[in-house]
Amino acid sequence: MKNKLVVGSRSVLKRNALRFAAALLAALAIFVAGPNAALTQAPQHHDQVPGFYRQKVGDLEVTALFDGFAVFDPHWLNGTKATMDGVVKELHEDPHMLEASVTGFLVNTGKQLILVDAGAGTWFGGGALGRLAGSLRSAGYTPEEVNIVLVTHLHSDHVGGLTAQDGRRVFPNADVYVAKAESDFWLSPEIAAKAPKDAQPFFQSAQAIAAPYIKAGKWHTFSGSEPIVDGMQLVPLSGHTPGHTGYEFSSKGQKILFWGDTIHAQRVQLQHPKVTATFDLDQNAAAATRLQLLPRLAREHVLIAGPHMPFPALGSLRKEGNGYSWVPVVFTDRWDEK
Ligand SMILES: [Zn+2]
Repeated sequence: MKNKLVVGSRSVLKRNALRFAAALLAALAIFVAGPNAALTQAPQHHDQVPGFYRQKVGDLEVTALFDGFAVFDPHWLNGTKATMDGVVKELHEDPHMLEASVTGFLVNTGKQLILVDAGAGTWFGGGALGRLAGSLRSAGYTPEEVNIVLVTHLHSDHVGGLTAQDGRRVFPNADVYVAKAESDFWLSPEIAAKAPKDAQPFFQSAQAIAAPYIKAGKWHTFSGSEPIVDGMQLVPLSGHTPGHTGYEFSSKGQKILFWGDTIHAQRVQLQHPKVTATFDLDQNAAAATRLQLLPRLAREHVLIAGPHMPFPALGSLRKEGNGYSWVPVVFTDRWDEK
């Protein structure tokens, strides 16, 4: 018995030695061919996952639709000297601080398919943006299925996706809703004529984007709190633009606010809500809106859909020091069970 074991062990040892030699030879072959010869056989893939993310809010299915990646310029931010010196110093240490997304959102209520903001299309961003319609298709919908578009304001990074350069409506069956103050301002030839030169493109694009919907009788304005969609409330967020409006949906005790451009540079403006963006037409009103809105959102744990927050641009606020921090939703494939 003992001998047999020894013999057995010897043969195992011999087999292992042979395997080791074979492995050594294979390693040597790789070494001779080049240290990473085996690895380089697999090419790098430069595409990303499809640009959509689903989130359940009560009975609503919200889908964030990626339109593109953007970087905010520090010169577009206004604040006290002390705050802005701090921002510049932080940016030096963390060059990714002002990275952002352009995102639109789809709300499927079970009865209607509603798009909130439409991304830039071909009207803004020099080709880096405009992926929203593709993201929508990846998410299993077609532009023809969209019934309603709610726009927070008429800057082209929020409405450019509505209309092709040749004037074709990208969402041919959708009724578009926008605040009357917003529509009246950007679509006024008189106001446009008096606007500074660098603001002119915003007027021109708003007019070209709106024109085919107006012609088709699909451009609608609201001026108060008239009902547009069941379970949705208009939230005036004045300051950024004359009729800048948020849309707050509630379902089964859960709330989501589509807040448009309440925040552009979240790493700066959540900590310093008084810091404004150059694009805020009424700087004081924009800051006042943030100071009034953010405490409620943090207190009520409202889910926020922010077009320039990091994709999927969904999250909530947590009070931190004198400001707030962004609590992003965390990727899960069990989105309907949360
Ligand atoms: Zn914007």
